[in-house]
Amino acid sequence: MRVAVFSSKSYDREFLARANAAGRHELVFLDARLDAATVPAALGAQAVCAFVNDRLDREVLQRLQEMGVRLVALRSAGFNHVDLEQAQALGIAVARVPEYSPYAVAEHTAALVLSLDRKIHRAHARVREGNFALEGLLGFDLHGRTVGVVGTGKIGECFLRIMGGFGCRLLATDPQPSESCRQLGVRYVELPQLLADADVVSLHCPLTPQTRHLIDAPALARMKRGAMLVNTSRGAVLDTRAVIGALKSGHLGSLGIDVYEEEADLFFRDLSGEVIRDDVFARLLTFPNVLVTAHQAFFTEEALTAIAQVTLRNLDAFEDRGQPEYPVTPARLA
Ligand code: NAD
Repeated sequence: MRVAVFSSKSYDREFLARANAAGRHELVFLDARLDAATVPAALGAQAVCAFVNDRLDREVLQRLQEMGVRLVALRSAGFNHVDLEQAQALGIAVARVPEYSPYAVAEHTAALVLSLDRKIHRAHARVREGNFALEGLLGFDLHGRTVGVVGTGKIGECFLRIMGGFGCRLLATDPQPSESCRQLGVRYVELPQLLADADVVSLHCPLTPQTRHLIDAPALARMKRGAMLVNTSRGAVLDTRAVIGALKSGHLGSLGIDVYEEEADLFFRDLSGEVIRDDVFARLLTFPNVLVTAHQAFFTEEALTAIAQVTLRNLDAFEDRGQPEYPVTPARLA
C-alpha cells in the first residue's frame, strides 16, 4: 500500500523504514501535521499513518475518504484525536498500537517525580553556574509516602510497581480495578479520597469525555497542601488554568507534565528563539516547582521499535484481510 506518514520526524523515518525493510509498503514521509490544510498531501495513498497531534476530525476524514484512503494507522495508543464515529460511517478503518512499552512512559513518570522531589533540574543549573549552595533544594523521602495513581492500565500498573520499589504506600482509582495491582498491595479508593491522601498523584487514564478536566479546581482543592501532581497521560485531563491557580496559591507543591492540552502548536518542533504566544503555557514555565517535558515519555528505542513493527503489522493485516491487527471502533470509546 502507499501510506502517507504525517508528522514524521527523523526518528519515525528511521524506525519505520527499518520495520518496512522488505519494502512491502510505499511509505511517503511528510513533515506536515495532518489537518484540513495539509490533507491534500495524502493524494494517491490508500492509508495514512498519524501521530498524537494530527487532526482526524469530521472534515479531514471526509476528505481522506474522497481521496481513496481506507485506513488510518495511528502510531499511538491514544485515539482521542480521531472522530471514530465519522471514520466508521465513512468506512475508514482505524488502527492503533495498543501497547508498545508501558515501561518507557512509567519510567519517565518516575523520572519526573524524582527530579521534582530532589529538584535535580534546579541543582543541575546551579552547579553549572558555580552555585553549590543547598538552600531551596530540600526534598522528601519517597519511602513511606503515599502515591495515588488515576488509571491502573498497563502504564499505571508499571508505575505503581516502580513506586512500590521505593517503599511507597500505593493507592489507585479506576472504574475497572486490576487484580494484579491488588496483589501488589494497591488499595483502590474513590478519586476524592485518593486526592486527599496522596503525596504524589499521577495520571494514567485515557482522555475521554468523562476524564476531560478530571483534575479541575475542586479536585485540586481536595489534594493535600504541598502534594505533587504528575501528568504523562493526555494534557486535557488537567485543567491547566486551575493548576496555575493552585500553584500560585501554594496549595499545589509541584507539577510535572509531559503533555499539555494545547500542545499541538508547540510540541515536537524546535521553536528555540521564537516567541511563545501561548500565555498559559508561558506562565507554567515561570514556576520553579514545575517541570515540563515535551511529550517524550514514549521516546525510547524499545518503544519506537515496537511502534514501527506494530504499525507495519496493522498495514499488512489490512492489506491481507481488510482488517488491521489492532482496530479501534467507537465501541472502544464507550
Ligand atoms: P490502558 O488502556 O492500559 O489503561 C487506562 C486505564 O485507565 C484503564 O484501566 C481504564 O479503566 C482507566 N480509566 C478510564 N477512565 C478512568 C477514570 N475516569 N478514572 C480512572 N481510571 C480510568 O492505557 P495505558 O497504555 O496504560 O495508557 C494510559 C494513557 O497514557 C493513554 O491513554 C495515553 O493517553 C497515555 N500515554 C502517554 C504517552 C506519552 O508519551 N506521554 C505514551 C503512551 C500513552
